[in-house]
Amino acid sequence: MLSESDKNLVEEAKKFFGKREVKGGTIGHAGCALISESDQIFTGSSLHLYCGIGFCGEHTAISQMLSQTKDTFVKTIVSWGKDGILPPCGRCRELLNLIDERNLNTEVIISNDKKVKLSDLLPYAWK
Ligand SMILES: [Zn+2]
Repeated sequence: MLSESDKNLVEEAKKFFGKREVKGGTIGHAGCALISESDQIFTGSSLHLYCGIGFCGEHTAISQMLSQTKDTFVKTIVSWGKDGILPPCGRCRELLNLIDERNLNTEVIISNDKKVKLSDLLPYAWK
């Protein structure tokens, strides 16, 4: 079950979804929002460019958090794409694990009525 805070985070992620073309690819296949350990919200859009350059919305939101604060622990994270809420890809799961082992306890919103811990999505996390 999602809390009001979770639902608000989903709405934030939606704001960063919206595909738009740029010279070398597309931005906004997915939008992401997270709440950091200091209760700040960070957001971002995905970036997919030719030659394999680019990253997911989670990367953008996480790098915003890392650049603007000393925070490394993510309390809750959600992404939104064309079909609604998206679970994070394997690379983003590992990114969360690699920046802070506590992120195995991050709550990941994976549907309109369900959230799980990152450790459920990454049971054999790299150490
Ligand atoms: Zn990803």
